[in-house]
Parts: sequence; structure tokens; C-alpha cells
Amino acid sequence: MPSLEGKSAVVTGASSGIGAATALALAREGARVVGGARRVDRIQPPVLPLELDVTDPESCERFVKAATDDLGGIDILFNAAGLALGRDVFDDSTEEDERTVLETNVNGLIRMTRLCLPHIRDGGHIVNMGSIAGRQAYEKASVYVASKFAVRGFTYALREDLLGRPIHITTVDAGLVDTEFSRVRFRGDEEKASKVYAGMEAPKAEDIADCVLFAVTRPQHLNVDEIVIKALAQSSGGRIVRTET
Ligand code: NAP
Repeated sequence: MPSLEGKSAVVTGASSGIGAATALALAREGARVVGGARRVDRIQPPVLPLELDVTDPESCERFVKAATDDLGGIDILFNAAGLALGRDVFDDSTEEDERTVLETNVNGLIRMTRLCLPHIRDGGHIVNMGSIAGRQAYEKASVYVASKFAVRGFTYALREDLLGRPIHITTVDAGLVDTEFSRVRFRGDEEKASKVYAGMEAPKAEDIADCVLFAVTRPQHLNVDEIVIKALAQSSGGRIVRTET
């Protein structure tokens, strides 16, 4: 029997990359999955698509109401929506980019967790998509690094508040993953984006989905606190060994 038969899941950022792959993987394991994103048309069946902008409180409230009307309750919340903008020294940072990154990666994730928490069933699980950027800084990524340190801090703090309640909480901290992340970061510049993954074998979104599945299918008395996963060719945000291309 699929391991998540009869369970329900909510996945943010389900239109692309890690969120999309994880939503499909959860559905394959038998869960009923509601996926949220702004580009709702890109969410693939059998994931149920619902429009969601995590930076907009009203959109989040509408999404959670519609999702829980459909699902009844939530067994798994995977907060995957997120982005970085630019690879520039902090001197060149802008108010607008700072707001977009922090509103999405930090406020959006916190807001979605707060709104979903009352609906999370006993034995349920919150998985936050962190990054190795939230464990060790690298250059020209200050606001993204700050956002992912915040995700890790929030996850640790929420674990303290949930202690004694039957809710699991995990952060998955990945290094480079070959998704649309770099295309978004470089504002559609395909050449710059493809260089990020050149000369190395980067993990795929499905590899991260495997990590999420592992975390949410452990015995009830266990909690996988953190998973850190990187390409073998990467030791930190700033150090990657590439073959000549
Ligand atoms: P991706 O392919 O660009 O996917 C990002 C997802 O986030 C999309 O589904 C996008 O959907 C959604 N999103 C962005 N802003 C949103 C908003 N305001 N409201 C709702 N959804 C929003 O990138 P990815 O690599 O899968 O990234 C997923 C997560 O993994 C992010 O939190 C990222 O920081 C993290 N991560 C990525 C890497 C990497 O190297 N790829 C490494 C470590 C961690 P719409 O645009 O349709 O709204």
C-alpha cells in the first residue's frame, strides 16, 4: 500500500522545481495534495491546483480556506515557495528586491505555517524548504542568505513551541538544485542561469522530493529535524568543483 494513503498534503510553490516534484511524489504515495502558486495553470494533476501568492495575506487566507474545505484537515504542509534575486554585492541591493525575497521566503512561509497550523492533524508534519545558504553565508547573496537563516531560526523556534504536541517539523537544507531557481534569480537570463549548473551533476528536484518523503514517512515517535543535501561536487554555497566544459 502506498505509504501516504488516506493522508492530505498542502504544498506551496507547486508550479515548478522542488515544490512541483514533491507534490507529485506525495500524490504518488497516496496523499491527496493541494498545490499553491501564482502560475496555477502549471500545477500538474493529480495535484489539485489553487491560486496562491504567499506574499499576500488575503490570498493565503483564501487558499487555506479552500484547501481545508477540500481536504478536511492537513497531514503534511510543505513550504517550498521561495526565490532569490540577483548575485550582486549588497551595495547594489534594492528596497524592492529585499522586500520580495523576505516577504516570500520568510513572511510567506511564516504566514502559511500560522494559517495551516490549526488544521494540522495529530501526527502531522511541517516541512520547510531551507537551504545551505541558511547554514553558511556565501558572497553576493546577502538577502537570500538572511532569508534562509531566518527559515532555519523559525523552524528551530517553532519546534520549541510545538514540543509536547503530536506535530513533526523538519527543514530540508539543499545546495544547488537544477530547477528554475537560477532563471528567476537572473531575471530570465538563460545563459547566466545555465552556467550555475555547468560542469557538475546538480541534484534534481526529485532528489529533494525523496528527502521530504523520507522525513514524512518515519515512525510517529521520530522527528527528522534537518536534512542537508548537496551535490557531491559542492562543499558550501561558495565552493563547487566543476569539470571543464
Ligand atoms: P523554482 O523552480 O523557481 O520554484 C519556485 C516556486 O516558488 C515556484 O513554484 C513559484 O511559483 C513559487 N513562488 C515564488 N514566489 C511565490 C509567491 N509569492 N507565492 C507563491 N508561490 C511562489 O525554484 P526551486 O529551486 O524549486 O525553489 C523552491 C524552494 O527551494 C525555494 O524556497 C528555494 O529557496 C529553495 N532552494 C532552492 C535551491 C536551488 O538551488 N534550486 C537550493 C536550496 C533551496 P509561481 O512563480 O508560479 O508563484
